[in-house]
Amino acid sequence: MVEPVLECPVCHKTTLKITETELDIPYFGKAMIYNATCENCGYKINDIKFEGNYPVKDKIKIEKPEDLNIKIVRGNRGTIRIPELGLSMEPGPLAESFITNVEGLFERFLNVLPLFDPEKTKELEEKINDAKNGKMKFTVIIEDPTGVSHFVREI
Ligand SMILES: [Zn+2]
Repeated sequence: MVEPVLECPVCHKTTLKITETELDIPYFGKAMIYNATCENCGYKINDIKFEGNYPVKDKIKIEKPEDLNIKIVRGNRGTIRIPELGLSMEPGPLAESFITNVEGLFERFLNVLPLFDPEKTKELEEKINDAKNGKMKFTVIIEDPTGVSHFVREI
């Protein structure tokens, strides 16, 4: 492989060498690490780009108990919504990336319910438990402008 040689933005000599390393990160997919080093002044820059780095909007119908095992990869810019339950998880400034399944997603919602007025969350809690136990059908929607979030459909 011929390494591309570019002009260095710091010393302006044509001594900036770029190497690309492909990584395969489980569930997050293939990523390309770009590493540029100037052989003259030592300037360095690293960048990472996930394959399929384009906006994602996807949804799955949960219709049978096995569907609760479908894995969800949530990148830190991803939004997850369950319209039938009025649930939505938006990316905040401290949003974390995580991998869970549909059942685990409900646990995350149930864990924050005690922060709210119990009178108002009682009905929702019952609905979540019904959904978690396969007693109702619903839809899970993910949207992610960075394309990291997605469903992992194989078990
Ligand atoms: Zn340089």
